[in-house]
Amino acid sequence: MTNEEFRAHAHELVDWMADYLEGVAAYPVKSQVQPGEILARLPALPPEQGEPFDALMTDFKEIILPGITHWQHPSFFAYFPGNSSPPSVLAEMLTATLGAQCMSWVTSPAAAELEERVMQWLRGMIGLPDSWEGVIQDSASTATLCSLLTAREVRSGRGVNARGFDGSERYTVYCSTEAHSSIEKGVGIAGIGRGNLRTVGVDETFAMVPAALERAIVEDKSSGRTPLAVVAALGTTGSTAIDPLEAIAEITSRHGLWLHVDAAFAGTALLLPEHRSLLNGIERADTFVVNPHKWMFTNFDCSAYFVRDTGALIRTFEILPEYLKTAEREPVHNYRDWGIQLGRRFRALKLWFVIRSFGVEGLRERIRRHCAMARELALRISAEPDFEVMAPVPFNTICFRYHPSEPLAEPPSQPRAQRPPPRRAEGPGDTGRLNALNAALLERLNATGRLFLTHTKLNGRMALRLVIGQTAVEQNRRTARALPPLKGLPQEIPAPSIV
Ligand SMILES: *Cc1c(COP(=O)(O)O)cnc(C)c1O
Repeated sequence: MTNEEFRAHAHELVDWMADYLEGVAAYPVKSQVQPGEILARLPALPPEQGEPFDALMTDFKEIILPGITHWQHPSFFAYFPGNSSPPSVLAEMLTATLGAQCMSWVTSPAAAELEERVMQWLRGMIGLPDSWEGVIQDSASTATLCSLLTAREVRSGRGVNARGFDGSERYTVYCSTEAHSSIEKGVGIAGIGRGNLRTVGVDETFAMVPAALERAIVEDKSSGRTPLAVVAALGTTGSTAIDPLEAIAEITSRHGLWLHVDAAFAGTALLLPEHRSLLNGIERADTFVVNPHKWMFTNFDCSAYFVRDTGALIRTFEILPEYLKTAEREPVHNYRDWGIQLGRRFRALKLWFVIRSFGVEGLRERIRRHCAMARELALRISAEPDFEVMAPVPFNTICFRYHPSEPLAEPPSQPRAQRPPPRRAEGPGDTGRLNALNAALLERLNATGRLFLTHTKLNGRMALRLVIGQTAVEQNRRTARALPPLKGLPQEIPAPSIV
């Protein structure tokens, strides 16, 4: 492709991209293809001769697009959003064009220094201590692994990196039963052994019970184990439950454990001053992760990893022999020593574009609106006699289920007012039937293509999970007007009665 052809195709593509974003709501949110369908349409062998760009674009539209789930669709309510925004996309175009390898300062000084500055901005924006430093990782899974590896090296005096485990370590790691699977994965990869991850019980809000954490630590200590680290969730993946950071930090500092805070999704809510108190106790934590690539309008991948002790991080990952180093830290950052990869993408550019284009207040306003929409929807759901909200809604994630007050068989035939309101207590058999009913409901909803939800299990009960965090999500004014006025609804989302 000549540069002139590149120019022409790039212009066409930008038009396609703008049209796509404008019309994305017309696609089914969740791809409706069957397993293997796309693969069968792709030739088994690559072309020997180059093909014209038009042929590539035709196949992109005809073969690839039907197999895409449209994450930027305004009715994408599944998982956590992987949201993007026009300034972020434009920055990604520049990053791809520059094609810079940002492993060390010298390989692109601007990339290193912009990353340093943007991480300082973000640190201040979400209220982390000024003395902490940040680095952009590809994912929260990587950041959490880096944290566990650093904890391991600090505790072993860099012994495991140097010699491997010698059997005397017997480390244990703690998180709640609601914690993300990346912790178990990280504990395995770090060589600590998945069997040495202790899952601590949660309370009725699905937050870790600090007393149970302390009991587990004490028990492990008395049986000759070495409790190493705790991972506290600020916003679990299931229901965005908030582990009590201050109480947990008190326990980890008293027992000498490392503390990592996993705020991969909900950390973005810390942009709002009204959520800042969730960080109480952070000064006693060691590391923190938030993903701008989830809720902060920045394309995947961009995971912001912050650490209290940069030296501990670098000593875990640097590979230069010690004798080559100066006593002081270099005045520049060589981010190859701040994580697992050597080669790194120039990720700071898109975050810089996003923060500058939205402005901090612009970001706050959108996050606040998402939370307000979620709260309103949760109130409406909880006012429906046949539905119930299954967990608190501190941010923008609603866990709910269909739980007909009638016997479960048929859709209600009587008008609502005549139906018996009190719901009988849920027996063990009911849970199974309700789970099946809600699984069927989820499948039918998603098959419409009009929206996409996922599910979680809370205390064995299936909950549909609806996350309002999409860049383009708006309340539909027409349907909103048809709904009962909010004034008639309860002000407080009733606490789940079923935990
Ligand atoms: C999404 C999520 C993760 C994993 O994030 P990746 O960037 O996909 O690795 C970890 N923890 C929590 C709480 C999450 O919500």
